[in-house]
Amino acid sequence: MRATDPNISPNPPVIRQLNEAAINRIAAGEVVERPASAVKELVENALDAGARRVRIEIADGGKTLIRITDDGCGIAADDLPLAVARHATSKIDGSDLLNIHSFGFRGEALPSLGAVGRLTITSRSAGAAEAATIAVDGGRVGPVKPAALSGGTVVELRNLFFATPARLKFLRTDRAEMQAITDVVKRLAMAEPRVAFTLADVSGGGEGRVTFRADAGSGDLFDALAARLSRVLGAEFVENALRIDAEREGLALSGFAALPTYSRGSAVAQFLFVNGRPVRDKLLIGALRGAYMDFLSRDRHPAAALFLDCPPERVDVNVHPAKAEVRFREPGVARGLIVSALRHALAEAGHRASSTVAGAALGAFRPEGQAGGARVYQMDRPSAPARAAAWAAQAPAAPGLAEPAADWTGPSARTEAIIDAAPAPDAEAHPLGAARAQLHENYIVAQTGDGIVIVDQHAAHERLVYERLKREMAERGVAAQALLIPEIVELSDDDAARLLARADELATLGLVVEPFGGGAVAVRETPAVLGEVDAGALLRDILDELADLGESQALRARIEAVLSRMACHGSVRSGRRMGAEEMNALLREMEATPHSGQCNHGRPTYVELKLADIEKLFGRA
Ligand code: ADP
Ligand code: MG
Repeated sequence: MRATDPNISPNPPVIRQLNEAAINRIAAGEVVERPASAVKELVENALDAGARRVRIEIADGGKTLIRITDDGCGIAADDLPLAVARHATSKIDGSDLLNIHSFGFRGEALPSLGAVGRLTITSRSAGAAEAATIAVDGGRVGPVKPAALSGGTVVELRNLFFATPARLKFLRTDRAEMQAITDVVKRLAMAEPRVAFTLADVSGGGEGRVTFRADAGSGDLFDALAARLSRVLGAEFVENALRIDAEREGLALSGFAALPTYSRGSAVAQFLFVNGRPVRDKLLIGALRGAYMDFLSRDRHPAAALFLDCPPERVDVNVHPAKAEVRFREPGVARGLIVSALRHALAEAGHRASSTVAGAALGAFRPEGQAGGARVYQMDRPSAPARAAAWAAQAPAAPGLAEPAADWTGPSARTEAIIDAAPAPDAEAHPLGAARAQLHENYIVAQTGDGIVIVDQHAAHERLVYERLKREMAERGVAAQALLIPEIVELSDDDAARLLARADELATLGLVVEPFGGGAVAVRETPAVLGEVDAGALLRDILDELADLGESQALRARIEAVLSRMACHGSVRSGRRMGAEEMNALLREMEATPHSGQCNHGRPTYVELKLADIEKLFGRA
């Protein structure tokens, strides 16, 4: 209750003009939250200066020392005092804040850093006879002095926050701060694949220990980017990612998005860039999520590195002090581009699933000595006919995997169906091969030209039902089947109202519900494709789905989520025996169906092991 606070005097308070040092410290509060934010500003400056190599040295999590060395254009000696002055920048003239091509433009980083730490800038601009240096210590600017440096710029920031001890208390452990710095450097390294980066921990003095290094990328931009992403996110990411290259109404989207089966338990592998600037933008993250919604359960997160580029006037980067958020002039276009480009790429990927799944499985089998690094099994394969021909020529005598060994007396009681082992060469030529056996009433084992495929029949069928439901819905609405006697389902008043509010939408999906008084709902028709269903369970599932997805999601996504839920109810459960024809039909349908490489929860529906890999398991290769 401020009005009655006895500490507030009845006289009006005195208004003072703060001095420069105080102003800079306040500004620093926004720009420099922790060592990682200082590193971000300084590396961005190096990149803006056109550096080809950037070296970042850190001691004690950046608390005692941050040193950035670049080979960029340098700063003229006369300009050094200006560089550390507030609102002084070489990057814009202030006339057009919507025409920004550099990381920096606010002219705040260096004065802010100088206000809260001990900053030294040593630089030599191209053609200058010698280098010069300037120091800013807790806001006090020293004189420009001659210095020794062959070119580029070295910025040193010591004792960050010594001038604002309150800030020091908020810093985390050296390790945590170093981790945050590493994240910042990696994001910028992704944004600039043609620049070489080195990050070293120099806590112990001397050369220090290099904790991250990425060489300058060559080739076309996609090659350079792929190499850089391999370096930053690991080769597995790139090998399991789809190349994205799309455009819409002057906005361009490029980069790599991982297969749904390569999803993660949190959003740690999501990297978004707008006009080369790393951002954590809710709109873009939401769009990414929306694009994968169809393939991932809510606790899984897609992995992607995406670059959105547009004319600078179509996006405002001046809405966040650290420039981590942006505002699009037409947010709908940006969102739509991401969702449609990713969905398109995922559809093109067809039944391809993450190759690391097989890799991980195989890694678990491999005897200790052979483990080596994480192996990745590339599932991109030559065309089926080419492979079949190669197979016929090379390995006519390879043993059929599922040929039952006569003397096998092991625990095979649950090996349900061993099918005639005579190869059907045309079936093997298919990417998912010829079904050979059903194991444990759920796993279909198929033989391909050069390996084996194991299909999780429940997961695969669930996905196929889902894709079929979507197709049907798109073509003619989902066929409904009237119940002889309407089923009455008791819900809470609230739930009933929520469900009935969607009655029209549900009717297009073949589910016809009507109010039955109070919290009761009468189910008159159900989607024919589901056969006999437990209407109560279905309604409650749909309600959960509606509650979780909320209002913010697109209608279509909501419908698809409901369909996915329906598919789960309607698919073949594990435990059902299948005959050869039925299994082969499932494999062929998977090949023909987009997105069939993963189930509706983002798990793979099949894994493939190449013969060569199996041979390695047995030490034969
Ligand atoms: P901004 O980046 O927003 O312009 P800064 O305070 O970060 O503001 O930097 C002020 C100016 O100092 C920059 O505009 C640039 O001219 C110069 N500068 C800073 N760092 C470097 C660097 N590493 N190489 C060359 N010039 C630099
Ligand atoms: Mg800057």
